[in-house]
Amino acid sequence: MADGKEVCLCGEGLTKIYLNGRQKNVAVDHVDFEIFQHKTISIVGESGSGKTTLAKMLLGLTKPTEGEIYFQGKERDLSTSRKRTEYWKFIQAIFQDPYSSYNTFNKVDTVLLDCINMRGGKRLPHEKKYEMMEDACCFVNLKFDELTNKYPFELSGGQMQRLMIARIFILKPRILIADEPTSMIDACSRATILEMLMKLKKEEGMTVIFITHDIGLAYYISDCVYIMEHGKIVESGSAEDVILHPKEKYTQRLISDVPKIHQEWDLSTIN
Ligand code: ADP
Ligand code: MG
Repeated sequence: MADGKEVCLCGEGLTKIYLNGRQKNVAVDHVDFEIFQHKTISIVGESGSGKTTLAKMLLGLTKPTEGEIYFQGKERDLSTSRKRTEYWKFIQAIFQDPYSSYNTFNKVDTVLLDCINMRGGKRLPHEKKYEMMEDACCFVNLKFDELTNKYPFELSGGQMQRLMIARIFILKPRILIADEPTSMIDACSRATILEMLMKLKKEEGMTVIFITHDIGLAYYISDCVYIMEHGKIVESGSAEDVILHPKEKYTQRLISDVPKIHQEWDLSTIN
């Protein structure tokens, strides 16, 4: 199949229902999707629309109540820990809250060493591992020597998110899910984080599933967009089609919340 036309992950009728006593909360409601290799796909929706739940099902961290996930053409099977480990070489994530993604008792070097081990580097000489950790930190503009003895909570939000990207640099998954990776960090680190993610995508040929509530950002970075409302995909297609010619009211509303999507800002109107 031609490059970029190969489906690497797809879902059919994916549903997640959370039960709270007698109350049913349908967080994700019969979602279908196809993820093509090497593309950037955005999942856009307001808070509570089910984006993170969908991401967790894709990662295999949450079991779907209904529906199937197909991985490289076959029904995904995560029934043994070996299969799960194999799957996590293929798909990894960066979450909104980087602090929640770490074991707080692991220092930075342990976080990175775990990634090297996961990629089969357990028996590599110490110097080689050190070099790999240094390279990964260099990619995200962090100084490994200054961080090596630190605990995650001693880092700033921006540094933490860069460390998350350094993990991905070592793990080199085929698919990266980035779940609102910039929403909890300061505005000035945001552009840097996005830039690093896009650079990593380009260099490694990764497929990126970008989750955001910011449809303007989705337009800017994606090939393809899925719009989520109350657990359902209400509209999907190329970023141009969906965002420049939205059919659904919900999409139109998300767009109207963004002042200008593709026009230049008119600075002359600002005093
Ligand atoms: P989003 O990421 O788009 O903000 P979420 O996937 O986090 O949306 O949440 C979708 C819905 O599922 C919300 O109503 C949320 O309260 C509910 N939900 C999410 N996680 C859980 C959980 N672990 N237990 C119960 N309800 C949950
Ligand atoms: Mg979320």
